[in-house]
Parts: sequence; structure tokens; C-alpha cells
Amino acid sequence: MSKVELKPAVAEPLVNLVVVDYAGIARGRGVPRRAFDESHGNKTCGWVPANMSLTTFDIIADPNPWGSRGDLRLVPDNRARYACWPSQAATPLDIVMCDITELDGTPWVCCPRNFLKSALADFKAETGCDFIATFEQEFKVLGAEWEAASSFGLSALRRADPFGSEVVAALEQAGIPIEMFVAEYGRDQFELTTPPSEGVAAADRAVVIREVVREIARHKGWRASFVPKAEVAGVGNGVHVHFSFVGPKGEPAAYDANGLGRMSALAASFAAGVLRHLPALIALTAASPVSGLRLKPHNWSSSYTWLGEKDREATLRICPTVTMGGKDPAKQYNLEFRAADATASPHLVLGVLIRAGLEGIRARLPAPPIFSGDPDALAPSERENAGLRRLPDTLEGALECLAADHVVRSWFAAEALETYTGMKRMELKLAEGLSGDALCQRYAGVY
Ligand code: GLU
Ligand code: MG
Repeated sequence: MSKVELKPAVAEPLVNLVVVDYAGIARGRGVPRRAFDESHGNKTCGWVPANMSLTTFDIIADPNPWGSRGDLRLVPDNRARYACWPSQAATPLDIVMCDITELDGTPWVCCPRNFLKSALADFKAETGCDFIATFEQEFKVLGAEWEAASSFGLSALRRADPFGSEVVAALEQAGIPIEMFVAEYGRDQFELTTPPSEGVAAADRAVVIREVVREIARHKGWRASFVPKAEVAGVGNGVHVHFSFVGPKGEPAAYDANGLGRMSALAASFAAGVLRHLPALIALTAASPVSGLRLKPHNWSSSYTWLGEKDREATLRICPTVTMGGKDPAKQYNLEFRAADATASPHLVLGVLIRAGLEGIRARLPAPPIFSGDPDALAPSERENAGLRRLPDTLEGALECLAADHVVRSWFAAEALETYTGMKRMELKLAEGLSGDALCQRYAGVY
């Protein structure tokens, strides 16, 4: 028998083929990096249709359209590879975002990334413009046992050191530029902002940011949670989607100095489409039993079908532009959709936002009124005149709004809709025994 000489096997880095499912959870499979790189990223891996029926609670919805049958592939998009090596990690965190396809490579009917791609392609074809976006994401650090620090406080930033610096370094290494790392209003709450990018990249980046933040917090023995509410009485974590349009010659296309709220006709119709379908959109953008705890008036989140100018209570906010130093407002001009959270797939969030806006553009809807004030202080008839409808603040309510909006439902293939709503109904059933802080804590452990 020949003698076998062994050296310690060093860790073989893995490339993680990742998709974000209807539950807003990044799932995937790891392949050895050497093999992946040798294949020039042409390595696909298997996936199972019923995975899309997985709930937050890791139980597959029953019934679901798929059962145990069928096979799919995760197909890496090599332009969407995000690799970094957080200083305390044993191996690099190497993520490549994937599309879900049939075995012959055609897009799978439920693939959220393909849903976004097709919405973007339609937007481009029908308007001649590119859609650009960025996700502004808030999260809470749990378990750090820090001494108290003031909201937005320098002390809140410094006591976390080097957490923020490590997160920024890792994300920049992964190719995601960071604008700001912010100590937010809530206790142990932070926020990360990035410059805008093309639509698919914006949603992919939102995913990677969450994973990098969670991983670096984990190495410190904490948990970073993007849950919409970590406790009922606490400050919510929002996912705010900023978006704008760029014309064929690279010119800003959402801005018109003479438009209402300085919106171009295109932006105005887009906003009107979003407001029209907003109650149904909630079932896809803030889509969990905890989401409604955040969507309350006076929370600076969003609670009505409300277009507002520079008002953080509005669901669709016209953001400020800076003119000092002769800066061009047109290039900065953007709208912010504030009714999303991390329990939703970022690809679906962006996809339905674009689909709703496109409906408004196709119908040439006029600019919606800009509301300023407190909707709760108005009489119901005054709210109605101002076009202010209360957003659903339960998942049941949101699903009813989705069921009632045949336009929103028409954006999805029948199987996709059945998969999505079946999964959400199962989630409701599984969450039934939980309420208040216990519900928030359960979700904080997942998101
Ligand atoms: N935390 C708020 C939310 O739930 C947002 C506060 C802010 O304007 O940054 O959306
Ligand atoms: Mg914020």
C-alpha cells in the first residue's frame, strides 16, 4: 500500500449562486471557486420550483402549484458578481446573482429578476428612457450591548467603530460604492446609501448590502436586522427606493422646471400610475405580517396614497435638490418610494413600481395632486377629495387589495401569482399565533 501524504486542506473558497425569492430571502448554492472561474462563470446549478413557495418560516406552502416535481437552473449573471473578504471572515464572501431558468435556458415564470428585467425593457421600449434607482436601507443592530447614544449621534457612530468602516470597505471591494453610513433615529439603528445605478444592478446591490452588513455584524456576535419593526414601539426600518429617468442622450428625463413639483410629464404620469395601484402594490413591497406595523401615520414611513414634496410622511416623495455652487437640479431630481421593506424581494419591488408607473404613462395620467399636511387631521371627505386612501396595514388587507386590482394581477403569469399568494397565505397561517413584539422578534431573526 502506498503511503498517502496529506497536508492540511485549506478552505476552498466558494462562489455562492444566489437568488432572492418571493419571501425576500437570499437562497442559493455554493460551488468551488476554482471550478467556477475555470468555467468562465458558465457553471449553472440545479434549483427546485417549490423553493419559490418557501415561506419566511422555511415551510413550503401547501398547496402550491409545484409539488415535488420539476427542475430548474440557477444561471449566474457574471456582471453581477460581488466578491469581498470581510476582515474577520475565514473565506471571501463571493456572491453571483442568478436568474432562474428552465433547463433550456428560457426564463422561469416565477423568476423575480426576470420580472424586473422585462419591466425595465418595456419601460425603455415605451419611453426611450433608462430607469435608474437606488435602495436606501435601514437596519438595527441587535445584541451589541452598547451604552446608549443619541439619535444621529457621533457617539452612535463611534461606539460602533470599526463596524461602519468594515462594511464600507467590504462593499467597495465588492464594487458597490457607498455614499453614507448613517447612525439613524432609532436605537442602534443605521442606514446605508449608495449612488443610483441601472435597475437590475440597483436591486442586486440591495441584496448584497444586506448580506454584507449581516455577515460583518455576525462576526462581531451581533445580529443586524432589516426587519420592518424589531419591536412594536420602536422605530421602523424602511427600504426607500429612489428613482429617476435618463433620456437617450443621457439627459435627465424626470425633471421639468415648469412641471407640478418640477416633474416632467413622464414622471407625473408615472407617479399617478404608482398612486393608482399603490394599495395592491403593498402586497408585493411591504408584504409581511410585520410590515403593517411600520406603515402607520406619524412614523415617517408611509400610510396613504400620498405624493408629497420634501415630506417624509408621503409614500411617494419628491426629493430635494441642492443648488448651491451652481449645481444642476435636473441631474439630482428623483422621486422616492417609501412603502417598501426588507421582507419583499428588491427585484419584485422595483419591477412592480415600474409596471405601475408604466400603466400611468400608457394612460397619460395627469400629475396627481401634491398633498401637504396631516391626512389624519382631515375629514374623510377631505381626504377623498385629496385622493388620499389609507394603505392596507395588514397582510390580509394587502392581499385583498391585490385580489381586487386586476391590472396589477395581469403583470404576473397565473402560476406566478398562485405561487406568490399561496405562499403569503401560508405565511399568514404560520404567523397566526404570534403578535406584537413576539411577531417582530420572530421576523427580526429572519430579516
Ligand atoms: N425609519 C423610517 C421608515 O421606516 C424612515 C426615516 C427616514 O426618513 O429616514 O421608513
Ligand atoms: Mg432613513
